[in-house]
Amino acid sequence: MTVAEENYLKAIYKLAEAEPDAAGVSTNRIAAALATRAASVTDMLRRLSEKGLLAYERYRGVQLTAEGRRCALLTIRKHRLWEVFLVQQLGFSWDEVHEVAEELEHIQSPLLLRRLDAFLGHPALDPHGDPIPAEDGAMRRPATRLLADLKIGECGQLAAVKNTSAPFLQYLDKVGLQLGTKVEVLDKVVFDHSLELRLGQRTAFVSAEVSQNLFVGP
Ligand SMILES: [Zn+2]
Repeated sequence: MTVAEENYLKAIYKLAEAEPDAAGVSTNRIAAALATRAASVTDMLRRLSEKGLLAYERYRGVQLTAEGRRCALLTIRKHRLWEVFLVQQLGFSWDEVHEVAEELEHIQSPLLLRRLDAFLGHPALDPHGDPIPAEDGAMRRPATRLLADLKIGECGQLAAVKNTSAPFLQYLDKVGLQLGTKVEVLDKVVFDHSLELRLGQRTAFVSAEVSQNLFVGP
């Protein structure tokens, strides 16, 4: 399996996960996610389908086969375990790990992966709060409720980031919003949909855009 093939399978898995009710993932969405032309996507889809990794129907889009899904989850498992390693062991901050993990996730060594997982103590979540698939592909359900959807008076715990870009993560560091922080929505501003939050002993305002990029758990 090539690096490009692994990246396609991973992208298709994530697009399907983001829209669980759709029949398949369209070529255009794949092209947009990978910033490439629809014609190159079509070529690759044909190749992956010949390898039995996905089912491709021109008008319904693509679906991963069981084998394609297994490959995608393995790449995601490697990516997220490496992110944990970079943060916990090498002192990277959470806004620095994604690009490095994009490369490390393509190392083909089952032994390295098993030892990495054991060394880290079999973590369930990556530094961004995303669940790490187990060796058999089983995975905790990702947090799906947005901070923006909490009602006034409701409480939650910051569970994961939807936007993993470095500027957003740096912003969260700057204002002291860490995963695991308990929040209560004190008020919602009608004018711009910003939220007034209680964070422990202090209160803070976050913009509507920030509240739409943070997932909360109970
Ligand atoms: Zn990442």
